[in-house]
Amino acid sequence: MINLPIKGSGAYRVSAFRTHGYRTRRMAIDNGIPLITDIKCAKLFVEALRLVKGPPLMHPQVDCLTSHQVVRLPGLIDVHVHMREPGACHKETWTSGTLAALAGGITCVLAMPNTNPPCVGNAEFNTVNDLAESQAYCDYALYLGATANNSDKLAELAPTAAGLKMYLNETFAALKLDNVTDWIKHFNTFPRDRMIVCHAERQTLAAVIGVAAITNRPVHFCHVSNAEEIGIICEAKRNGLAVTCEVAPHHLLLTKDDVPEQLRAVKPPLGTAEDVQALWDNLKSIDCFATDHAPHTLEEKETSGPPGFPGVEVMLPLLLTEVAKKRLTMEDLIERLYTNPKRIFGLPDQPNTYVEVDLSEEWTIPTDGGFSKAKWTPFAGRKVSGRVRRVVIRGEEAFIDGQVLVKPGFGRNIRMEPTPRRTQRLPSIGGDSDAFQMEGPYKSVMRELAYRRGSGALLAPLKPISARTPAAYMPPRKTDSPPTSVPPW
Ligand SMILES: [Zn+2]
Repeated sequence: MINLPIKGSGAYRVSAFRTHGYRTRRMAIDNGIPLITDIKCAKLFVEALRLVKGPPLMHPQVDCLTSHQVVRLPGLIDVHVHMREPGACHKETWTSGTLAALAGGITCVLAMPNTNPPCVGNAEFNTVNDLAESQAYCDYALYLGATANNSDKLAELAPTAAGLKMYLNETFAALKLDNVTDWIKHFNTFPRDRMIVCHAERQTLAAVIGVAAITNRPVHFCHVSNAEEIGIICEAKRNGLAVTCEVAPHHLLLTKDDVPEQLRAVKPPLGTAEDVQALWDNLKSIDCFATDHAPHTLEEKETSGPPGFPGVEVMLPLLLTEVAKKRLTMEDLIERLYTNPKRIFGLPDQPNTYVEVDLSEEWTIPTDGGFSKAKWTPFAGRKVSGRVRRVVIRGEEAFIDGQVLVKPGFGRNIRMEPTPRRTQRLPSIGGDSDAFQMEGPYKSVMRELAYRRGSGALLAPLKPISARTPAAYMPPRKTDSPPTSVPPW
């Protein structure tokens, strides 16, 4: 394809992302179509065609080379975040938290209920959902919080919720459940097609597995953090119990000695080098990676030391770095940030949603904390490989190279029917052109390309084209890679 951009200063402007020319070039790149964008190259090419009198002989390993290695991943899901709104907007809002998620390649977050007021009933659920609906930049769903006396009403709210969160250890007093009889009430009444997730450490974790067994229903454990807990989970899985778990990047990559004392507090606490090794040794029993994104400002951390780290913006680069070091495979990463979260929580598809990352880019995590209002990260200064380049949600380009292209409220509650709203007008060159004018021809071309390729499925392995123009691809799945041990529900 020959497509010549408008002559200009040479610098990209955000508004230029929306021109017909940009979109056409982008489609060519997305679909691995050779593209010429320079007038002199185009003239040479036409002249060469005239001389060779036919299709040019081309060797893709030689004729199209790039130093970039861009891959396309499915829209990633973080099943454990705290958005702090309502109640603590000085440290995170739905706007700032979902912007951080988007910049981190996360297209859907499941938000915890320990807000102020906590999300424990219909009124609170509607309050939080109104805030999220008007501000979110990525898709989301909301957990309900279990209390000693709300099991009946939560069962009714369950279809619209991400799941039920039970706080069973010292962390958030308002939602802590001390009585095992109350646990059993929730395990018996909360619908089986919605997951119960538990903050349960050490002996409490073992007790919850007992309750799950006697009530015969699945349970998911948040932020498993040490050798003892992962050992219990492995044992439960070996015995066929319906148990799944998540591990946070900070428990996988940091020990308690890696973070200054005044910033170190997190629940569960950072472990020893042996705990970290035990998590890596039992990777097959870890179903999900989830950030437990728990933002507090630096000032709060240094004065009163509340537990929690922000994390949603840096999880993917951190894990891609482990892929580069060969501690993880790309399949391990996709299973734990997409396939397993979707299956365990019964999440619907996010159609035409994907993330492009440049695996070749090496950079250092800055100290400013990115989009989160926490404005710090325990990973500051760490060198990582892999940067999020582009995020597309439901066919809309939401994020390109650090620029956010959608508006607050673009994100949807994936458990609820979308509220009818007018398609957002997007910035474009010249002022007249808008998303409506672009939508028709653009989408029909995309449909045609998907049809020609025989599938629109994101995970369908495309032909490896690693030495070509930075087109999107997924390496073919290895047939000998060991399956993750996840019970089938
Ligand atoms: Zn949490």
